[in-house]
Amino acid sequence: MNNFEERRQLFQEIYEKLILPFPPGTVELKNQNHASAHIPVQAYQHRVNVAAGNFASWRLTTEHPIIHENEKLLEMRGVLQIVDASYEGQGFIEFERDERTKRIKYFNERCKAAASLAFVDACDCFEMGWIDLGRKWSKNPGTGVLERTGGSVDRSNDKVVETRRQCIFPGCNKFVDEKLLNLYEWKNAQCEEHIPDHVKRKYLKKMEEQANG
Ligand SMILES: [Zn+2]
Repeated sequence: MNNFEERRQLFQEIYEKLILPFPPGTVELKNQNHASAHIPVQAYQHRVNVAAGNFASWRLTTEHPIIHENEKLLEMRGVLQIVDASYEGQGFIEFERDERTKRIKYFNERCKAAASLAFVDACDCFEMGWIDLGRKWSKNPGTGVLERTGGSVDRSNDKVVETRRQCIFPGCNKFVDEKLLNLYEWKNAQCEEHIPDHVKRKYLKKMEEQANG
């Protein structure tokens, strides 16, 4: 497996698996704000293990955490290598010092949490979770997300236009079914799962009335 072309192909095969959408429910929210959408580190670890197996390696590059005293942030860094490609990720976590001893509270846990975030950061560079997290820039055609999600891409005049609307529910980026929305007489861009129940009930009631009347 020293052949350059073979290794390039191997990476390409792994990469195609890395960037696949995660199963529904993988994206978690810390609060109702879409900005809090995130994928837990274990989902990334599982994806790397399944897609890359022994062609992936992760190692911390900070022997000791970097302490940003003014910002009260503890930083860890690490490199994720997959075949011949590698990215260094950074992870920051807030800390507090014990007033008496001046030691960082829960030091081990803080270091591990920052290391996990560094791993997630490196995974992000490999484009993992981009489809799922649906961040502001994911509609930018240069990111490749539109094409992968089957967005109808119009290349005439070098303009790329996504004509379909995506569900507005945080973390859900499914394209909405406009026919279904018309049927329900519902204006909000929401996929079938996230159209509110009262809207569906209203529609069913109307259907029943029509059937009886
Ligand atoms: Zn939805």
